[in-house]
Amino acid sequence: MTLTDLGIAAARHGLGRREFSARELALAHIAAIEALNPRLNAFITVTAEQALAAADEADEALARGEGGPLAGIPLAIKDIFCTRGVRTTAGSRILGPFVPPYESAVTANLLRDGAIFLGKTNLDEFAMGSSTTSSAYGSTENPWKRRQNPEARLVPGGSSGGSAAAVAARLALGATGTDTGGSIRQPASFCGITGIKPTYGRCSRWGVVAFASSLDHPGPFGRGVEDCALLLRSMAGHDPRDSTSVDRPVPDYAAACRRSLKGLRIGVPREYRVPGMAAGIEEMWRAGESWLREAGAEITEVSLPHTEFGLPTYYIIAPAEASSNLARYDGVRFGLRRDGEDLIDLYERTRGEGFGAEVKRRILMGTYVLSHGYYDAYYLKAQKVRALIFQDFANAFAGVDALLAPTAPSAAFAEGEKTEDPVMMYLNDVFTVPADLAGVPAMSVPAGLDADGLPLGLQVIGPPFGEEVVFTVAAALERAAGFTSLPAIRAGSPAP
Ligand code: GLN
Repeated sequence: MTLTDLGIAAARHGLGRREFSARELALAHIAAIEALNPRLNAFITVTAEQALAAADEADEALARGEGGPLAGIPLAIKDIFCTRGVRTTAGSRILGPFVPPYESAVTANLLRDGAIFLGKTNLDEFAMGSSTTSSAYGSTENPWKRRQNPEARLVPGGSSGGSAAAVAARLALGATGTDTGGSIRQPASFCGITGIKPTYGRCSRWGVVAFASSLDHPGPFGRGVEDCALLLRSMAGHDPRDSTSVDRPVPDYAAACRRSLKGLRIGVPREYRVPGMAAGIEEMWRAGESWLREAGAEITEVSLPHTEFGLPTYYIIAPAEASSNLARYDGVRFGLRRDGEDLIDLYERTRGEGFGAEVKRRILMGTYVLSHGYYDAYYLKAQKVRALIFQDFANAFAGVDALLAPTAPSAAFAEGEKTEDPVMMYLNDVFTVPADLAGVPAMSVPAGLDADGLPLGLQVIGPPFGEEVVFTVAAALERAAGFTSLPAIRAGSPAP
């Protein structure tokens, strides 16, 4: 048995029966990281020593018959979650020297349940991107390869591309991510793994470096639907330190994975059939419909009429909030400082050097749409359209239990193929952005491979706090798809 190939449920089982120790499990993953991270660059920071110390504690707890639900499970943490005493960069040079004195709510919940952190994963700078190429710490490579052209270096998606690549390449059993416009679901789709963005407010944002506060959703990555259910159960929960955190009990999501689809109604949004979808995606989507029908669900077409306004609305609201959130990086309070002639010069030098091109572009757009004279025309208008998009989902969920759609309009692309053109990159978010604007839960499940041998994900979207139905439908898709393909670069495979 290879310890890096286990799912979380199987690892818990093996640890519980003492078939292997938490130390052995951690060591297997640390060895995999040492072997493959120099190539993949999935981790910005590896915390091997802390991981082993935590694994020893988990072993002691397990020997006493104790230990939380994730005791000894090695995870990777997106480097946007503050981790006490461990550098947290958000992929930016401006936070290069930042070592948080506190632990984010989500990572604290995972630690409470016994999880072990292997390190901090790479991301687009401040989570702005869909390719993990805008990080100040270099790009992350997708462990999957095209059949025809295995030399091409593919992107893992983004912004949580380091987490997705780490889980796909078997460097970690699971990982955390954040999804503001698709940053969990799209990298999950590109890397052939599973990821869920829960309802807004389900996971606390406290201690997560802010990108766009009304859109930021922490959530998990796993190699299967049930792994995500186990991780989300631990990550979710009320937190009075985040005023948008919701005080509702956290259900047993793993139980929801085993429920039947009988009697469920699944909607297929008509407006998601956009022109320019890559070959194979439409086909995969149809396959998903028939799998769900065979499993007992009823499929109907639904309309989300404001879908076409999702991207422009998102690319006004997200930069607006980002420009405001990023004002705090002034060289005085956090991270990098470049001294200047006077205070203004210090700000300019610090921010000029500290932020990369995409972040500067977003700050410019955001400042523009919030400025006097443009606020009503752009920002206020976008907020009104956002309300209409939410209403689209509310109307649809009056008639169906969940929606089925593709996760992304393409499979993983190569570095440089789209990454040079910001607008091409923004278009990649067409299927993921609406669920963020509406705050509804959505999950990506690997459904199959395209003609190039690259994974494609299907997306299940649920009503607010409908994570359970999302897990039920996603688990049914997973069973029907029987996706067992593995990436070319992974722990235990011949050296790349
Ligand atoms: N690709 C989107 C953006 O660039 C979404 C990123 C995210 O979800 N963090 O803003």
